[in-house]
Amino acid sequence: MSAIFGPAGNAESFPYKSSVDAPRWLAGLGLDCYEYQCGKGVNVGEATARKVGEAAREAGIALSLHAPYFINLANPDPDSLQKTIGYITAACQAADWMGATRVVIHSGALMKRTRREAQDIALKSLKEVVTACDAAGFGHITLCPETMGKINQLGDLDEVLELCTLDERLTPCVDFGHLYARTLGELEGHEACVKMLDRIKEVLGEERASRFHSHFSKIQFTPNGGEKMHLTFDQADFGPDPEPLMTEVARRGWSPTFICESAGTQAEDALTMKKLYQSAL
Ligand SMILES: [Zn+2]
Repeated sequence: MSAIFGPAGNAESFPYKSSVDAPRWLAGLGLDCYEYQCGKGVNVGEATARKVGEAAREAGIALSLHAPYFINLANPDPDSLQKTIGYITAACQAADWMGATRVVIHSGALMKRTRREAQDIALKSLKEVVTACDAAGFGHITLCPETMGKINQLGDLDEVLELCTLDERLTPCVDFGHLYARTLGELEGHEACVKMLDRIKEVLGEERASRFHSHFSKIQFTPNGGEKMHLTFDQADFGPDPEPLMTEVARRGWSPTFICESAGTQAEDALTMKKLYQSAL
């Protein structure tokens, strides 16, 4: 097993109109995986989803799916929880049609609560989400709560890891750009990477930790809010640098899924990450 690399959605250089053409194109570039974007809602129909899945299997591309951005596990309102469950089961349905094995979900917003209060609500919500997904027949799909980039969002590394302790099938989506942005650039460099990976291992055990899901991009941040915008690897004003992380993952022999979320160059930058990783093996 080795780490795998691919883009979130379609890069600007993607020459086709339909995502059905994406897996073959990505395999041609030398990439391994593709995260299908449902951030603005699960609008993909069954026929298209099945075609994307077929194309991915033919090209040997692993699929994951990003659930709607507006999911907020930390909203205590029961109607909101029912809506959240609806969005996540719809995302799982689309993932199932495609044969995608992982669905990425956002943790939520603080909504003026303390982090602990918001986290307790999110834990309760996620438990119900997992039960609902099992009941709907999606127990084989891995939900991946994501670390978030804005300071007033739930989802620093420890919060996401705690969410993942609810059920052994939950896998963290560690967004290293988000963690860098929300700590105003502190989580950057080799020592920080060692610490973060050690922390995942400490909470989930090495076997589970080794197959974590990940988003990676350089991200511009502001001192008060954290994440401002995603950048490309060519932009040098902000980090994080992918090299120390690739080196450390290779050294450990771990096999995470790396989805690059660069702004427009996500396929090219995913390939840069893969090359850094391979040269460190
Ligand atoms: Zn996300």
